[in-house]
Formats: sequence, structure tokens, C-alpha cells
Amino acid sequence: MLRCKYCGAPLEKKALESDSPYITCSSCGTSQQRLDAKAYLDQMMGQIQSWISKTIPGGFSMAQSENVDSVARFNIFNNNVRPRIETEYSEYRFATNSLLSNPLMTLPFTTDNSVVPSHTSAKAFEFNAKVKSIEALAVDESSKSMVTSAEEMASAYAMLINNTKLLQEDKPGRYILMANNFKEASAAFRKIKGYGPAADRFQALAGICTGCEKLLNGDSMGSISYFENGNALLNKVKTAINTDLTLGIMYQGVEMEITQAKILSDLAGFMTKGISADPLQILNTVKKIMAFSYPKTGKWGFLLGNKDRLAEVFSNLSKVLSAKAGGTLPIISGPGEYLIPFWEVDLKYSFQSGAAWAKRSVEVVEDLLIPADFVIDPQCLSNPRSALTDIFSIRPEKSILSGIKGTETSISGGEGISRLTAAASQNSPGTRKIVVPLSTEKEAKKLAAEYLAVCTSQDSKLKLSSPYVKSLIYIPCDIKGGRIEVPRGFGKLVPERIMRTEPSQMVII
Ligand SMILES: [Zn+2]
Repeated sequence: MLRCKYCGAPLEKKALESDSPYITCSSCGTSQQRLDAKAYLDQMMGQIQSWISKTIPGGFSMAQSENVDSVARFNIFNNNVRPRIETEYSEYRFATNSLLSNPLMTLPFTTDNSVVPSHTSAKAFEFNAKVKSIEALAVDESSKSMVTSAEEMASAYAMLINNTKLLQEDKPGRYILMANNFKEASAAFRKIKGYGPAADRFQALAGICTGCEKLLNGDSMGSISYFENGNALLNKVKTAINTDLTLGIMYQGVEMEITQAKILSDLAGFMTKGISADPLQILNTVKKIMAFSYPKTGKWGFLLGNKDRLAEVFSNLSKVLSAKAGGTLPIISGPGEYLIPFWEVDLKYSFQSGAAWAKRSVEVVEDLLIPADFVIDPQCLSNPRSALTDIFSIRPEKSILSGIKGTETSISGGEGISRLTAAASQNSPGTRKIVVPLSTEKEAKKLAAEYLAVCTSQDSKLKLSSPYVKSLIYIPCDIKGGRIEVPRGFGKLVPERIMRTEPSQMVII
């Protein structure tokens, strides 16, 4: 059978039978001339032939192996072939197991280049062909089972290596190729003793990839059962490998794939609800959300690089869509055609007031508001003061506490914000446009904590306690002249983030 000159995969029978001089590989997706695939195969077989003549002494010809009696075959296999195959097999088995520890799926419009296999697919396919070539020498059960395992493991590994490349590139049709590779890998693992859960895992991922292809083609209804079945099978795998010493290594990867399957089910769900006249509008919204590139390193890298955060982002998107379809959201009353989401945070602080002989400690509770899309603004991440209602900004001096008088009950200026947020209650958005929140509660909490760190570093006498994120609320605003206009209640505390927001960046439903 001809082999792909780019990845080494055997080319499908169907493609080989066509009359076209070109063949497209169903594993890596590359097209090539039939002649080139033939040349590659010849070269690979030449290498295998020379390996066989080095391994087996005395001019033994594989073509005649059927005529050699089984005792002689048994001896040749166990004395000459087995030791060599075993060494290489254990190397491939180790590399495969370590590949299995990664999540091997990625959501539409996203890429993942974190999975780095230790071999090329061509190398792994070559080992597969090599073992296949000496198959006839394995006569006893133990040899046969070793040959099958080595052959199938190399093939499954090679298919998965091709998928790690497809994870890195958001190109049309990639889910069809990924589904092919997962299907082949599943069938191969099915033949290896002890690898049943791996076979199930890749059967599940093959289905989920087929679902993604359907979803991207607008068939959300047809995709749902693929995501739900895939999710159920992955959960079965998770239970099965809990106490499995070899495949237990897949646990974290499988858990992340389950999260992705859940997100995909939700997504397909929104699209079927037909909330917008154009079902692809929601897909485009999702694409926009996925397309933001967040820092992968630094103090925000851990939170923003974590794919689990998307589950919460999509759950908030789901609430927005339900509200559009007749439900409600926590909205404050007031005019304004755009409902903009903010995290409402409680911040408690205390400070020493009064002269040396009459010191007293004053405790204050303030409300902070954080625009819920702050994560897409790098300036917010490096300067937390610019990402929220900076209640201490009314004292621009070096020290927040400098010049306070003994009679003061507060050194911050957020009283107006408390009045504003007190008016939030479950309301229908009506025909107003809703901006989708892009950050998670944990991220809001981290931002508030960073703010706190900046403020206390400026004055050690200022005591702040850990901030508490209360809820996500929607504030009616307007957009005029390409800028957001917030209600008057913000007073002088309009976050810099709001002032520099480009409306085109916002995800609006
Ligand atoms: Zn290929």
C-alpha cells in the first residue's frame, strides 16, 4: 500500500483506486502525486529490507518465510528479531503514554501548540511497517501478541502525532482529518491488551470532532448528539482509569476534554434555540470570544491561559442569550441602550485618623465596579487602577493618607457607586443590546487583589481586607461618538478602561 510522503500514513484504498494522478492523505490532509507516494514507499521498504538483512543472519528471505518450518521461525524470532523490536517498542510505548497525558482536543477557532510529541509521525509509521514486515515470523502466542501490540501502538501513536499538528492550525476541514485519526487510533488501541479505555477515549473524540465539523457547517441540531455521546463516553473513561496504573496518566487530559465537550453541547444548544435570526451570528460571537489572545506568561498567564475559564464565559453568554429570549438579568434601572456588565466587589478598609493623642481607627466598606471585559485590555492587567472605579484616586497625593484630618469618616470616594448598584434587580433587557462579559469571577477577584496590593504599597497605614466579588450586574449605558457614556452615578470614578474602550472590541448581542 502506498504511503503519504509527508506523514508516512498508509493511503486509503479509496484514494488509491481513483484515476487521478493526485492522492490526498486522509491523516494529514496533504495532496501529493501518486508517483511521489510510490517513491516514498520504495524508499521506506528499502530501509526495512536492509534492517531485516542486518537483523536476520544467513540470507533469510521474508518472501519465503512461509516455507520455513515453525521451529526455525520461532528461533529466528526469539533470538534475532524480538530483542531489537522490544527495545524500540518500549521507547514508543513510553512516548505514547506521555502523549496520552495531554488533552488532545481543541475548540473551534482555537489552536493549541502545547503538545509536543517526541517523534515524527513518519518515524512511528516506519516502525509500524517494520514490525509488520516480520509478522510472519511470530508463531507462538507471546510473540504474536508482542508483534500486534508494537504494530498497533506505533500506528495509533503516529495518528495522534498528526493530530497534534492539526491542533496548532485553525484550517478548514481539520476536524474531518482529526476524526479520521482518532477513529484509526481507537481501532488500533482496541487491539492492545489493557488499552480499552484509550480506545474509548479516541472513539469519543472522533465523535466530538465530527460534531464540530457539523457545527461549523451550521448544523447545530445534528451536532448535539455527537457532543453528548462523546461527553458520556469520556466520563466512562474517566471512571475506568481512576485505578488504572498505566492509563491513569490520561486523567487530567480526559478531564479537560470533558470540559470542552460540555462547552460544545452548550454552544450547539444556543444555536438551536434560534435566538438570533441568523444562526451563524452566535457562532461568530463565539469566534470573536475565542479569538482574543491573552497573555500566556506573567502573573495573569495562569488564569487566562486556562481553558476551563471558557466554561464560565460561555455560561454567562448563555444567560445573556436566555435573557434575550424573554428571561431576565440583574440590571440597574436607568436610560441607556447598551447593557454593559460590571463585577461588583465589596472592599473593606480601615485607616488611622486623628492626631497622635486622639488616634482612632475608622472602618469603611466600599463598592468597586470592574468592567467585565477588562481581561482583553493589557493596560488593565498591568495597571489595575485603570481597570476599576478607583476609589482612592480622589487623593492623588503620593500617600493616600497624607493630610487627613481627625474628623474624616472615609478617605475614598465611592459612595455614589453604592447608590448606583443598590438599584440592581432582575429585569428584562427588552430590546436593548447586551455586551457579553469576558472575564470570570476568579479573574475579577484577582484584579481587585492586585488593586489592593498597589494601594497598600503606597501607604502602609492603610489596612485593606480581602475583596469579595458579589455579583455580575448590567448597567445601561450609551455609546456616543465611538465612546461609552456611563450613568452620572459614577461621578468622577469612571474607570479608565471604560474611557478607552473601542466599541468594535465589545462582543455585543
Ligand atoms: Zn499524510
